[in-house]
Formats: sequence, C-alpha cells, structure tokens
Amino acid sequence: MEPLVKVENLRKYFSVRGSFTKKVKAVDGVNLEIYPGETLGVVGESGCGKTTLGKTVLRLYEPTSGRILFEGKDVTKLRGGELKEFRRNAQMVFQDPHTSLNPRLTIAETLLEPLREHGVNVGNAEEYLAKQLETVGLGSEHLYRYPHELSGGQKQRVAILRAIILRPKFVVLDEPTSSLDVSVQAQILELLKDLQRRYNLTYMFISHDIAVVKYMSNRMAVMYLGKVVEVGDSESIFNDPKHPYSMMLLSSVPIPDPRLSRERKRVKPQGEPPSPINPPPGCRFHPRCPYAMDICRTREPPFFESSKGHMVACWLYSKT
Ligand code: SF4
Repeated sequence: MEPLVKVENLRKYFSVRGSFTKKVKAVDGVNLEIYPGETLGVVGESGCGKTTLGKTVLRLYEPTSGRILFEGKDVTKLRGGELKEFRRNAQMVFQDPHTSLNPRLTIAETLLEPLREHGVNVGNAEEYLAKQLETVGLGSEHLYRYPHELSGGQKQRVAILRAIILRPKFVVLDEPTSSLDVSVQAQILELLKDLQRRYNLTYMFISHDIAVVKYMSNRMAVMYLGKVVEVGDSESIFNDPKHPYSMMLLSSVPIPDPRLSRERKRVKPQGEPPSPINPPPGCRFHPRCPYAMDICRTREPPFFESSKGHMVACWLYSKT
C-alpha cells in the first residue's frame, strides 16, 4: 500500500532571539510514513519536537528542509489552488480548545467558516450543522452558543467537528485530551476512534502519554530531541521497547500482564533532555543512556531493523 503521507529528512529550525547563528533544532531529519486509515502515534517528552513535527507536516510551519509527500505530491511545493486543496484534506485538532475556538463566534459561525472558505454549499445550513453536531455527541441546542457557554469536553467536540467538517483525509491530533478532565478524556478518545471508522480518516496522534498513544494507534514513532528514535507496531513497542529512551518512557507505565511486567527491561530516568539548540554529538540520548558506548558519543546511529517493520536508531542493534 502506498503511504498517504511520507516525510523525508524533514527539518524545522527556529532562530534564537538575539542570535544570528543559534538555532533551535525542533525537528532534525525525520523520516516517516503514514498509511491510509491508520493512526500513527507520535510520543515523547515535552519539547521533543512532536508538535512542531505535526505543524510542519501540515505546512502550518514552513520546513527548513526536507520533503512532505501527500498522496505522492510534494506539499512543500504546493501553491494557490493546490495548497488550498491540501489544506482541505489535511487538518489539525489542537491541544487546548479554550484557545483554539474564536470566543466571538457562535458554534454555528465557527463551523460555517471552513465550509464558506472552501465554497461548500450545504443547503439548509441550520439543519446540516445540527446533524453534524450529532456526530460528535452535541445537538442543535448548541448551535447558537458561544465557546464560553460550553464545557471543555464540549469545546473539544466542536474543535474536532470543525477539523473534519470538510471530510479531510488526514488529521493531526495534537494532545487532544491533555487539557481535559480525566472523566471526559476517554469519551473524546472513543469519539475520535468512531469518527475515524465512520469517515475513513488517517490520524497522526501526538501525545506525551505512551499508554494513550498505544490505545489510539496502530504504529508509533518515539521522538527524542527532534529525531525519531524508534518506530514500529504500537503493541510491540509498548510490550517490548528496544530503544533505551522508549524503555525509559515506559518504565513508569504499569502493565496489567504480570509476565510482561516482569520481563520488561526498565531504564531509570536520568537527568533532563539537553537543549535542542546544542544537541549532544553522536546519539543525542547518550548523556542519559545507561548503555552508552564509545561509538554512541561520536557517531549518530542509523536505523536498524530489530524485527519486521520495527526500526530502532541505536548502536545496540548494529549487526557489525
Ligand atoms: Fe544508548 Fe548508544 Fe543506543 Fe544511544 S546509541 S540509545 S547512547 S546505546
């Protein structure tokens, strides 16, 4: 199967205020493929570059270098009508619905905005929007309310509906439940799964919570300091992580199966991630890695295949 989205050697650097030379290397050479209908989870500590990756893939940030292919077309080269068509097909749900919805627009106006912008005629707008609200568990009584009149969970339902109202093919979900009460988080995750099935959506699901990513995604990519360090089937990374950083992320996550829990290698968290302005040479994880070897301090590890489709950027898996 051809990937819907293919990211090749993607970089996004930001200038540091007051310096001509220093750059924050938020995304630094990422390669990924996302297949139609799947959810690719992206997980890592805060500041590892996952949100920047999501925004750059959607060209909400212009990439510093690299390519993003969407249905085979290079998104970085799209202009005018083609870029508008891409924007219709590739949407984003942000972390905080309190700030992502315009407080001066009613829910009806919020939902009509993307339809008008893309010239979509839905006939009787009131009837259409009421039906659409039902698909996210709201109703016509919410149409003329303002965001401040809704709960956090209801606002996120509106933000999700706004993102999918044009029936996009691809949606980046950036920590869509982390600003919500625990009691509503599970409902929103279920809603996202339901909408994916109903509209055949492809997701990039970004979260710092590896248990949530495992629940939501078919495959996951673990990011550390601007780079993907492990990518593969979510179950296998969750149950048998290969990269020491993935092991560290998973060390504090309980596993219900006692046998798997006993067998899991645990890596104690050591120190804080270094600055993305001046990342360590070689493997970026080496100052925190209990398995670091001499080669790790000087040479960046390429990807090694630990099992079919499971790639790990770590010298421990080098066959030579
Ligand atoms: Fe640790 Fe070396 Fe593997 Fe990096 S390459 S994770 S430092 S063992």
